[in-house]
Amino acid sequence: MNNETSSFRILVVEDSQFQSKIIQYCLGSIDQALLDCVASQAAALECLDARDNEYDIALVDLNLPDAEVGECARELLRRNISTVVFSGIVNPELKTELFQLGLIDYIAKDSPVAIEYLQKLITFLIQQNNKHVLVANSNTRIRNEQVRMLENLMLSAWACSSDEEALKLIEQKKEFSLALVGQTSSNSDGIELVRALRAKQKSSQLAIVAVPEPNTDQAAQYLRYGANDFLQQPYSPEEFQCRIRNAIQMQQQLHSLETAATRDFLTNLLNRRAFFEVGEPIFAQAQRKNAKFSLAMIDIDHFKNVNDTYGHDVGDRVIHSIAQTLNEQRRSSDVLARFGGEEFCLLMPELEIENVTTLFKRYQEAIANIDFSDIAPDFKVTVSIGIATTPCHSPDQMIKAADEALYEAKESGRNKFIIK
Ligand code: GH3
Ligand code: MG
Ligand code: MG
Repeated sequence: MNNETSSFRILVVEDSQFQSKIIQYCLGSIDQALLDCVASQAAALECLDARDNEYDIALVDLNLPDAEVGECARELLRRNISTVVFSGIVNPELKTELFQLGLIDYIAKDSPVAIEYLQKLITFLIQQNNKHVLVANSNTRIRNEQVRMLENLMLSAWACSSDEEALKLIEQKKEFSLALVGQTSSNSDGIELVRALRAKQKSSQLAIVAVPEPNTDQAAQYLRYGANDFLQQPYSPEEFQCRIRNAIQMQQQLHSLETAATRDFLTNLLNRRAFFEVGEPIFAQAQRKNAKFSLAMIDIDHFKNVNDTYGHDVGDRVIHSIAQTLNEQRRSSDVLARFGGEEFCLLMPELEIENVTTLFKRYQEAIANIDFSDIAPDFKVTVSIGIATTPCHSPDQMIKAADEALYEAKESGRNKFIIK
C-alpha cells in the first residue's frame, strides 16, 4: 500500500475501450483506488518500469494486441504484483497455471454479475490489506504454501507449527482475523487448538478455517469445536482463495453486526443493553468478593436549551464530545455506557469511597474545559452526577439509588455530584 496517501495504485491492462470504461466506472467509486489504465502489454511494462513495479494490484485481460494469450498476466505475477485476470477467454489449463503462479482471481467477463463481483473483490483486497492470519501446521511444505497463497491475497501470514506457539501468537497479537489450522506438532490433530482458540475468541473476532487430514472424519470434529469452515485436501489455489476470503468476510460481518447491536451509534459507547451484559458479571464478582463498587449516573444540564438554541446537530456534537471526554477520563476497568439521550452510566469496580470526590471533580473539570468556542464564545456545558456505592443487592438497585442522587444534584442547583 502507498502509505503516504493511503491509496492503492491499480494497473488496468485492457485493450477494449468499452471494457476499460466499465472497469474505470466500477473501480472509480472505490475511494482509495488510483487507476492507471493501459491498452497493451508494452504500455503496461512501461508503467511498471516507470514505477519500479510499485503497483498494489493489477487487473489484466488475457488477450492483448501485442502479446501471446496470458503472457502479460505471467509477467505481472513474475514481478510479484497481486494480479486479477478479467477476461472473456475461458481456458482451464491457463487458469490452473496462473493460479499456481499466485493469481488472486480469474473472473470471466461474460457473466452479467462479473463487474459487481470485481468491485467487491477489489474492495475486499483494499479493506483487508495486511490483515493478520495465523497459520498453524506442522507440515513445512503445506505451511509455506499456505503462507504464499495468503500473501498473494495481500494478507499478512504468521506461521507456526505447534499449539503452544499458536496460542502465544494469539495472546501477543490480538488482532488476527483468521486462523488456518491443520495438523500440529503438539500431541493433537489440531482440534484441541481449534477448541482453545475458540475459547479465547468468538467468531466475530476470529474466523477459523480447518485443514483436516485427507481420508479422515476430522472435518466434522473441527466444525463441532468451533471451526467456521474447512478445506479438504487436496484443494486448488482457487478454492483456497475463495474460502479464505469468505471466512474473513463472515468474521467482518459478524463483527459489524455485534458492534451495531452493542454500541451506541452517535458516541460509539456501549449501549444500555450491552452495559448490563458487561456489568452484571462484574457486579456479581464484586458481591462474591465483598469488594467496593460504585455506579454513577451522569446527565447533561439544561441540554434541551442547547438543542433549542443551536439546533439538533450541535446537540449531537455536544453529546459526542462529552462521551469522548468521559471515555478518556475513565479508568480502564470502568464500564461506561450511553444510557439514554443525554445521560451516561459509569460502573466503577473497586473504587474506594475516599477517591470518589477526587475522581468526579476531575470529570467535571474535564467537561468544563472542553473547547466549544466555535459554537459560541462563552458556550459551556456542565453535568450533574448521582453516585451510588456498595452495599447494594443488584445493579437495578444501584441504578435506582444513583438516579435518586442525580435528582438531588439537579434539585440543588446542577453542576454537582451527590453520593448516596
Ligand atoms: P436537566 O438539566 O434537568 O437535565 O435538563 P435537560 O434539558 O438536560 O433535560 P430534559 O430531559 O428536559 O431534556 C433532554 C433533551 O435531550 C431532550 C431531548 O430532545 C434531547 N436529546 C435526547 N437525545 C438526543 C440526541 O441524541 N441528540 C440531541 N441533539 N438531543 C437529544
Ligand atoms: Mg439533562
Ligand atoms: Mg436526562
